[in-house]
Amino acid sequence: MNALARAFGAEFTDVYQQGEYARYATLSLDKNWEVIATSKDGSAIQARREFGKGRVVISGSTSDLVASAPKSMDKESKDKFLKNKSENIDKMIGWVCENQEPVWGEPRLPQPMGGGGAIYPELEGGTDGIVVFYTPNINPKLLQCVEVEFPKITKQINQWIPSTPTKEPMYLILSAGGGGGWAVNAFRPKENGIISLDDMGLISIYAHELAHTLGGPANSKGDKAGESPLHNQGEAHAGWFQGKVDAMYKPELLDKATKNCQAFYKTDKFKDLDIARYAQDREYREEFGKGADWSKIWCIWQMMDDTYGTTWYPRWRMTQYDRWESDPKRKLTWDETIEDMSLAVGEDLFPFFVELNTSLSRKEMGEIEYKGEKVSLPKARIKVQTPGNVKLDNILDYSKPLAK
Ligand SMILES: [Zn+2]
Repeated sequence: MNALARAFGAEFTDVYQQGEYARYATLSLDKNWEVIATSKDGSAIQARREFGKGRVVISGSTSDLVASAPKSMDKESKDKFLKNKSENIDKMIGWVCENQEPVWGEPRLPQPMGGGGAIYPELEGGTDGIVVFYTPNINPKLLQCVEVEFPKITKQINQWIPSTPTKEPMYLILSAGGGGGWAVNAFRPKENGIISLDDMGLISIYAHELAHTLGGPANSKGDKAGESPLHNQGEAHAGWFQGKVDAMYKPELLDKATKNCQAFYKTDKFKDLDIARYAQDREYREEFGKGADWSKIWCIWQMMDDTYGTTWYPRWRMTQYDRWESDPKRKLTWDETIEDMSLAVGEDLFPFFVELNTSLSRKEMGEIEYKGEKVSLPKARIKVQTPGNVKLDNILDYSKPLAK
């Protein structure tokens, strides 16, 4: 940072002082700078200057550009703090941009809605229905990963969870940073942001975000009917296929359960956690911590993979979407979702889920209606036991009952 700052005749010192909005590195400045904020002891913490045809502002804290307030503040002080701070940001940016014509004309962004990708890097690449936006200084190793590995991953996840392909390509936005991503499904263009600087991170996040966009085989009306309390395309679902793809690329994960969930299985939390209650009860959720439900669900799904093979999952999606075809927006109860899973595997999973400490209305499925017929099923053979190793097998024909 100082190499850059020195080019403008400034330097960050290693002396820190409290300013109005944050803790700042104090600044050492040549005479071209105008100090615009100081700490209590009078050290410069913000300054501005003209440089060539432009203007530059320097600040000893990056938090100067972030409209956030300390957590400890009460609401009134927070509102006041944020108002002042926003005005300060406006003033700083306003001065820098004063008298400037926007370089590319209209300054408003084309996608002002939610999601992460309102600003796109300028280069475009990709292959096979994937459009990748990236910057000219991207590491070539990452671009290679996108062009060679991503199509393979797309093909593999679509094999595991066959889904109606979208007509438009998938837009991927590569962003520099320490690991993360976002997916936009709610409006067009659908996009998928990946924040990572290493190829394994890129692969893992891509698998996760891609899975969010793949919900499984739609019904005859083209719908994915019914909303499962396990969420059709939610975090557990995305993480599940991410975990499988991780294992494709990291041999040391092959003798572990998907998402390394057997570590969670060994804890008391696994035994105690009621995933149905967790979904509804906020205090209960806080007691177990964020994501505890995902870990338990992955354990359960791993046991399902172990017993029924990988085909059970798309068959469950198909069964649900068919069963609720006439009521596509229906919010399914836990009972209904376990019925769907039971129908998919052809065995009654109620006793299994009761043993897993799930709040259900009954201990056995009993007789239910499916496609106009009354159906009852034998008790499932699946057992609550240590999750096995990640299963990467291709699925078989999910439209047929699962082989014993
Ligand atoms: Zn996610």
